[in-house]
Amino acid sequence: TAGDDAPYLEGLNEEQRAAVLATEGPVLMLAGAGTGKTRALTTRLAHLLNTGRAQPWQILAVTFTNKAAREMKERIEALVGAHVEGMKWLGTFHSIGAQILRRHAELVGLKSSFTILDADDQTRLAKQVIEAADLDVKRWTGRGLAFVIDGWKNRGLTPEKVPENEAWHFADGRGISLYKAYQARLTTLNAADFGDLLVHNLTIFQNHPDVLEEYQRRFKYMLVDEYQDTNVAQYLWLRLLAQKHKNICCVGDDDQSIYGWRGAEVENILRFEKDFPGATVIRLERNYRSTPSILGAASGLIASNADRLGKTLWTELEEGEKVKVRGVWDGEEEARLIGDDIEAEQMKGRSLSDMAVLVRASFQMRAFEERFNTLGLGYKVVGGPRFYEREESRDALAYLRLIRSPDDDLAFDRIVNKPKRGLGDKALQTLHKIARANDMPLMAASRLALEGDDLAKAARRSLLNFVDTIDRWARDAKDMAPADLAELVLEESGYIEMWKNSKSPQAGGKLDNLKELIQAVSEFDTLEAYLDHVALVSELSESSADGQVWLMTLHAAKGLEFPVVFLPGWEEEIFPSKRSLDENGNAALEEERRLAYVGITRAEESCRISFAANRQVYGRWQAAIPSRFIDELPEEHVEVVSEPGLYGNAASDLASHSAFEGMKLKDDAYYDNPGWRRARAAASSRRAAEPPLIEGRGSTVSVSAPGKSKYKKGQRVFHQKFGYGKISSVEGQKLTVDFEHSGPKKVIDTFVEAA
Ligand code: ATP
Ligand code: MG
Repeated sequence: TAGDDAPYLEGLNEEQRAAVLATEGPVLMLAGAGTGKTRALTTRLAHLLNTGRAQPWQILAVTFTNKAAREMKERIEALVGAHVEGMKWLGTFHSIGAQILRRHAELVGLKSSFTILDADDQTRLAKQVIEAADLDVKRWTGRGLAFVIDGWKNRGLTPEKVPENEAWHFADGRGISLYKAYQARLTTLNAADFGDLLVHNLTIFQNHPDVLEEYQRRFKYMLVDEYQDTNVAQYLWLRLLAQKHKNICCVGDDDQSIYGWRGAEVENILRFEKDFPGATVIRLERNYRSTPSILGAASGLIASNADRLGKTLWTELEEGEKVKVRGVWDGEEEARLIGDDIEAEQMKGRSLSDMAVLVRASFQMRAFEERFNTLGLGYKVVGGPRFYEREESRDALAYLRLIRSPDDDLAFDRIVNKPKRGLGDKALQTLHKIARANDMPLMAASRLALEGDDLAKAARRSLLNFVDTIDRWARDAKDMAPADLAELVLEESGYIEMWKNSKSPQAGGKLDNLKELIQAVSEFDTLEAYLDHVALVSELSESSADGQVWLMTLHAAKGLEFPVVFLPGWEEEIFPSKRSLDENGNAALEEERRLAYVGITRAEESCRISFAANRQVYGRWQAAIPSRFIDELPEEHVEVVSEPGLYGNAASDLASHSAFEGMKLKDDAYYDNPGWRRARAAASSRRAAEPPLIEGRGSTVSVSAPGKSKYKKGQRVFHQKFGYGKISSVEGQKLTVDFEHSGPKKVIDTFVEAA
């Protein structure tokens, strides 16, 4: 056939080539990290275009992040050798789902201008639903309800489809009715949460076969990357869409499945061959990314998992340096060590963007940000506390959302009196009452209120002004560039003025962020495009300049690669996380191990793991124990480095430390594997012997004087393991809590949150 000898096929190995050329029928590519799955998938797409098998808009391609989507598009253009117009269906499940939903929103009772809610809005809405049902919001939190609803949506379940017996998942059997009420509120607000983007698609496909058929016809070819992380809803969505042409190619790696906590099901891989009989299954074993040491370390580690399909990987790359494992005194020193390493690499001519620091949890980022700032190293955070989650960003967006969609009550509530314009609690209560009585959005209720005489004179004047201004901006929005509109709105509303007059130490930073936000808007042609981008992408920009080190969570690093990778914080209860260790069975721990595997396999040339002997977690010092994953690395691929002269005297200081009782410490003994094993054994036997009254980091000891607790007697709290309870006494950071399910227990206050 034409195109079988195209130049872009030359660089591929035989199996990859087969995956590209098997264009018709279902294909499953199952292979380990760095074996060129994404590359084969990208080439396949280019090949489909190049041979004229499909037009760009007839191909559905799903990637895991927006960054990956953009990179894939660039690669395809490079392979095809031309700019490709009309690749409209290349993106994440969420972004493609949102596009389809916008076209048929009315079929599920929404308008095409619907707002996409983020996690914070979702929680607030859930809380309102719980309040409206007259339940105790202290006992049944908005976050709890949102979590349960997300779980159902991940499984593709609308309220009607949730099995009756699962009503008990929330509020003593009221789960399903609350879910219904929550969906009804979303419809009134003309809004969808993330889960809805796909679940509404499924509903539309099921109830309107003609619409489904239109898409089945359209998508002649479907391609899915990172298939191991799809959840049931995504799977059903793919299966429905693929039914007509059945040209679906999924690629994945069971060892890299790291979203089980979000409902991803590895079983989808096994299900594929059943649902698409006769599927071509292709395995790739040659790794092109990492040196033998890195690959050996990663393969050795993942071999400790029992639950895997199993595979071997090989590489022809040069041996290279061993995986480095380094111990330091504390987190600050770890940041210093890594900062120094980065500077040294830079001196050798390495670009900063070739290096990445990958952390388990975003709280670990702060130390690195501070260190990089001190050193003047540029860095780029992905997946941390996000720009668009900040107060000023959310306020600015609320203005823009309300202008676009006047039914958006969450946006209305947020900014109607921010800056203060004399619309106090009393006026707002009146508006809410009118809205409820007439079952209408707050904006419409405001208009109604202006006709009646329920409002005080000043409030009335102020509300009239607010409504008129929003109306005027909505008219302006029609023929104004979105960035100009944003600037106008933030100025005229007095919002910028508010921060200018503020004495808050953060005001300056907030003003800078607002400027940056306007700058970001200017990259879009329409307000709608911008708001969708924010809702779905939530990053200011996902590319890093040459002069920036990457700083991100391991979850965000999936599919990426960097010449040099730093993996800090390999300590028990950080990585593997405390939560995974507390859980029964091995599933959570195995997922942590897969995450470690993902981390190591991001590295091309150099992989540097580190751990600290002392760690400050949420403001409290704790002695830490090296991660069990370090023990599991095969010795022949690892170099254990200790630099006590340079980086404090961790070993001797630790000798006097009670957590390491029973360890024979001499010089660098701390860094020897058997030493860690002993330390862990000692700590865990002590943990077992400890009276069960004190819960906390059982294997660790506080090394600073315990502080004063911010909690008070009588307060209701939530504990990760024991659930809800009431504090009966406070003693320093130790609380005695009467738990609703498990009775009175002593806990450390860093493990509870106010409920
Ligand atoms: P992951 O599981 O981490 O997502 P992957 O299987 O998708 O990895 P790719 O990212 O596609 O792997 O490829 C890894 C690296 O190997 C990339 O730099 C890619 O360009 C390179 N590569 C892939 N195939 C080949 C090949 N046939 N020849 C040379 N280099 C290749
Ligand atoms: Mg990949």
